[in-house]
Amino acid sequence: MRKIAAQYIFPLNGASPIRNGVLTTDDDGTILDVREMSGEEESTEFYNGILVPGFVNAHCHLELSHLHGKFERGTGMAGFIRQINALRDGSGRDVKIDAAREQLEKMYGEGVSAMADISNCNDTFEIKSASRMYIRTFLEVFGTEPADAPKIMEGVRSLAKEAYYIGLDAAPTPHSCYTMSPQLLASASSDALDEGWLSYHNQESMEEELLIKEGRGALARDYKARGLSTPPVTGAAALHYFLDNLEKTGKLADQNILLVHNLFTDESSMDRAISLVKNLYWAVCPLSNLFIHNFLPPLELMRAKGAVLTLGTDSLSSNDLLSMVDEIKCINNYFPGIELKEIFEWSSYNGALFLGLEESMGSFEKGKKPGVVLIEQVDWENMKLTDCSSSTRLV
Ligand SMILES: [Zn+2]
Repeated sequence: MRKIAAQYIFPLNGASPIRNGVLTTDDDGTILDVREMSGEEESTEFYNGILVPGFVNAHCHLELSHLHGKFERGTGMAGFIRQINALRDGSGRDVKIDAAREQLEKMYGEGVSAMADISNCNDTFEIKSASRMYIRTFLEVFGTEPADAPKIMEGVRSLAKEAYYIGLDAAPTPHSCYTMSPQLLASASSDALDEGWLSYHNQESMEEELLIKEGRGALARDYKARGLSTPPVTGAAALHYFLDNLEKTGKLADQNILLVHNLFTDESSMDRAISLVKNLYWAVCPLSNLFIHNFLPPLELMRAKGAVLTLGTDSLSSNDLLSMVDEIKCINNYFPGIELKEIFEWSSYNGALFLGLEESMGSFEKGKKPGVVLIEQVDWENMKLTDCSSSTRLV
């Protein structure tokens, strides 16, 4: 049994922060009690910081960890795709696996207890299955040519079998509207809905919006120059095209659906998404957004719409580090009106909800086993993280 105390504990799931809080855990990390300290208590570890439940990284591409430091910043989407096509396969498999393992261990040590991770191949399957972190793997597909769709689906379904035999929770998922033929988008969405989880890159760039809405812009130009097919021009925001596709599958029920990035989302497409999808989650990855687009998602609009927000790091191709605390700092800096308590709900509780882990993770509640994370170097006066804030797993 451990008694761990700190200046503040954020139990989450709607509970108020506890000043001078103490947390009791069983030897296996199960939460036995969380409350305010009564004077000096015996056998208590005391920390100068904040305790939060283990983080849930809602969007990562662990298998791109070897691309750290190789990408130019501020290129926009078309430039990013050019770089990833050129660099993705430039390293050997061992180099990729070693980089991914190092990052996975680092994230776990910094308090990430669960993760929604994208895989395009099997490079990281072994290390993910050996990790103490819970990971749901989204086997992402893309391909602009309609004729290629059946073959791509055959490949990803065999990858899903491989993941299953290795013990991973994994299923196909669509990448985005701008990298997929309508046929592939429909098939991958259908497989994801059968599984119950779908993660999709949504409205990440203005280029994406222009491609779908008006058939023009940098992405449209690039695809045409490369002789590739482009998705249908709809005259509406890109999210509508994806929602049409989801409706057409006839399979929408109570699946957990995650829209990632959402930089250029707008009121009308948000309204329709929220009314159509029962369990809808929105992931924000602010440091990646600044890296590629020098732009951030409309968090005020999203909060006003009651969007259930989650937080992700994205990959080291578009981020300097995979650190949940640094993503929180970024939100603190750019959106000073949003309280720390609310951001922690995104970074721990809502991510657990998306992954269906709310019975065991995401908050300090009796019987749960979320992991205990210490955040140090806090600006107590303003209740904000500082540039020096860091996180460490205690349990
Ligand atoms: Zn991504």
